Amino acid sequence: MSLQNPVFIPGPTNIPEEIRKACDIPTLDHRSSAFAKLFRPAVAGVRRVLNMDEGEVIILPSTGTGGWEAAVSNTLSPGDTVLAARFGMFSHRWIDLCQRHGLNVQIIEAPWGEGAPLGAIEAALRADSSRKIKAVLATHNETATGVRSDIAGIRSALDNSGHDAMLFVDGVSSIGSMPFDMAGWGVDIAVAGSQKGFMLPAGLAILGVSPKAAEAMKSAALPRTFFDFRDMTSSYAAGGYPYTPPVGLIAGLAKSIEMLEEEGLEAVYARHARYAEATRRAVAGWGMCPCAVRAELYSDTVTAVRVPQGFNGTDLVQLAAKKYGIAFGVGLGEVAGKVFRIGHLGLLTDAMLLSGLAVAEMCMADLGWQVRLGSGLAAAQDYLRQSTGAELSAAA
Ligand SMILES: *Cc1c(COP(=O)(O)O)cnc(C)c1O
Repeated sequence: MSLQNPVFIPGPTNIPEEIRKACDIPTLDHRSSAFAKLFRPAVAGVRRVLNMDEGEVIILPSTGTGGWEAAVSNTLSPGDTVLAARFGMFSHRWIDLCQRHGLNVQIIEAPWGEGAPLGAIEAALRADSSRKIKAVLATHNETATGVRSDIAGIRSALDNSGHDAMLFVDGVSSIGSMPFDMAGWGVDIAVAGSQKGFMLPAGLAILGVSPKAAEAMKSAALPRTFFDFRDMTSSYAAGGYPYTPPVGLIAGLAKSIEMLEEEGLEAVYARHARYAEATRRAVAGWGMCPCAVRAELYSDTVTAVRVPQGFNGTDLVQLAAKKYGIAFGVGLGEVAGKVFRIGHLGLLTDAMLLSGLAVAEMCMADLGWQVRLGSGLAAAQDYLRQSTGAELSAAA
C-alpha cells in the first residue's frame, strides 16, 4: 500500500501525474530530429513563461544553483564587482558562490524578513561613479523567509542612477508560480529550476539570457566548459546539445508548460496567490505571523511561519514527518528553529492544502504549543469557501 502524502516543502513540489508520464519516454537519439521536435516547444514555452521579447533560453542539465553558476561564469571575469543584498539563505548562497568564483561582492545586509532594499541599492549604484559594478544580483523570492522582492523597483534603481550594470534574478522559487516579467523588468539573466513552479523532478537549470548578457559573454574570463553558453547556443541552432541532454526531463518541461498555459498563466498566478492567502489566514488563526515583515513582501509560493517564543519550528517539521508522513520546510540559517516553512507552490488543490494545514495544527497540539485545534484550519476553510477558484484548481 502506498502511504504517499503531498509535500509542503518549497520545492521539490508535487508532480502531476501527466508530467510524470510525459517524462517517461523511450530512449531517443538526442542528435535526431525527434529530439529537436520535443526540445523546440520547451524552449519556446520558457520564453513565454519568462515573458522574454529577445535573447536566448538556455536549459542545462543541473539545478537552480548550477543556473547561478552558469550566469556568473558566462558573463563575468575574476575580480569583477557585483552588488547583492543578503536577507536570507538563498541570497546568502548566491553571494557565497560569487565569492568562491573570485568576484568582489559588494554586500548590502538587510534583516531576514525584509526584501531587497531599493534605497540602499540605488545609493550604492549612484556612489559607483567609476562603474565598477558589473551586475546586480537579486533573489526575487527568498525561499528561506517567504519574501518577494520588487524586481521592477531594482530596475528603476538602475535606471534612476543611470547605471548600466546587468540585472541577474534568481527566480527559482517564483518563475511559473508568480508573475515574472523579464522584458518589462529589463532582466539580463533569469534563473529557474525544474523542480519548483515547473512541477518536474530536479535536474534542469532553466535560464533566460538577454542580448546584453550574451554580449558580456564574449569578454567574460571566468572558466566554464559544461555550462558554456557559447557551446549551448551554437548546438541549439541545430536543434541539439553539445552533450547528452536529459531527454525525459525536457519532454516533461514541454508538458509542464502545456499544462500551465492550458490553465492560463494568470490563473496559475491567481491560484498561488489564493493558496498563499489561505495559508496566511491559518497562520493568523494560530496567533502567529509570517517571517515576511510587511504584506507587500508576502510570497505566493512559501510562507515562513514565526513560531511562538520558547518553541522550535524544527520540532514541528520533524514530528510532522515522523508521525504524520508530511514534509514541511525547516528554518534555515539565521531563522533556524525560529520558523517553519509551508510550501504552497506547484500542484496543489484546496483539499491538499487543507490537509497540510490540519497536520501542522495537530503537530502544534502534540508539541504543547498554545494553539486550539481548528483555529487555523477554520480560517483557511472560510477563506477558500468564499474566494473563487476552487473549481479551477480542482480541474487543474
Ligand atoms: C531552491 C532554490 C534555489 C536552489 O536551487 P537548487 O535547484 O536546489 O539548486 C535557489 N534559489 C532559490 C530562491 C530557491 O528557492
